[in-house]
Amino acid sequence: METALLTTQDAQYAGELLKAGEVVAFPTETVYGLGADATNDLAVKKVFVAKNRPADNPLIMTVADVEQLASFVTISESARQLMAAFWPGSLTIIMPIKPGQVSMLVTGGLQTVAFRLPANETARAIIRAAGVPIVGPSANTSGKPSPTTAQHVWHDMQGRIAAIVDDGPTEVGVESTVIDMSTDTPTILRPGAVTQQQLEAVLQQPVFDATSTESVANHVTPKAPGMKYRHYAPDKNVLMFDPLDALALKSALAAEDVVMAQDETLATLNLPLTRTWSLGATLDSATEQLFAGLRYYDESPDVGTIYVEKMPPIGLGKAYNNRLAKAAGNQEFTL
Ligand code: AMP
Ligand code: MG
Repeated sequence: METALLTTQDAQYAGELLKAGEVVAFPTETVYGLGADATNDLAVKKVFVAKNRPADNPLIMTVADVEQLASFVTISESARQLMAAFWPGSLTIIMPIKPGQVSMLVTGGLQTVAFRLPANETARAIIRAAGVPIVGPSANTSGKPSPTTAQHVWHDMQGRIAAIVDDGPTEVGVESTVIDMSTDTPTILRPGAVTQQQLEAVLQQPVFDATSTESVANHVTPKAPGMKYRHYAPDKNVLMFDPLDALALKSALAAEDVVMAQDETLATLNLPLTRTWSLGATLDSATEQLFAGLRYYDESPDVGTIYVEKMPPIGLGKAYNNRLAKAAGNQEFTL
């Protein structure tokens, strides 16, 4: 199959491809998504094939407005509050399905389904043009870092899907926050740009973070089916490091090792440019650059270990550290 490269001007055409049962990669503010008509089982199957995704890992459904999801799920008062506060945006909300309304392929056999309404204008224009909710998992091969540019999507998906809509690099750089609103206590299943504090402020009740180190240490069973799969993992060895250990790291580096860090840390390390990937000066820029740097070095020959700086675990830092820890298989540089 020839994969067409489209621009943001082609939203109408992309929507028509989706309506016709084709798979189209589309931009969102978090990472690029792999779209297919969520009401067409044949189309949804193509997504699993293109991504090489395990069938028991459910897909997120993506909509252009709240009316589009009302026939599929029961929306609680608290879920409505979250939609009002954070949509359009990078929050995915899990709700109980109305029996028989969502394909088993999408839910992975669960009685719940995850919905998101993205902020990216082109994403919404495409979904409106399609006229149906679309599934929208990240547009990478399963197990690889999520794509934050159309070039990343091209690398993983060329020849496997009908089209890619290019809208430049994504703004956030990590996937949406996933919150389960089908249980008594609202529960974060994946940290993202919308934080626990922000969710608690809107809901006026405690939100449980199933991904926090305390929960994992207390052996809370993973609730998101996807949590059991290895994610974001480059083939190369990845190690996280604390910026306070920068000087020790400098003396431990082998000639072929590379470092991804913020500018201040890179200044301390004073390494050749070819061996460093700048994460900029802010938490936002670090999050935006994380997957791009991991992909770049994973594909570069002659690269040994990839060392990546950890961020303070507050706000977006939790989402950043969560993705980094997965990429590193939890391995840390120690003195
Ligand atoms: P992705 O599609 O790659 O962005 O990942 C979506 C994440 O949401 C995966 O970790 C899924 O396992 C999780 N997810 C999707 N739907 C549900 C659901 N109904 N219940 C729990 N987790 C879900
Ligand atoms: Mg994914």
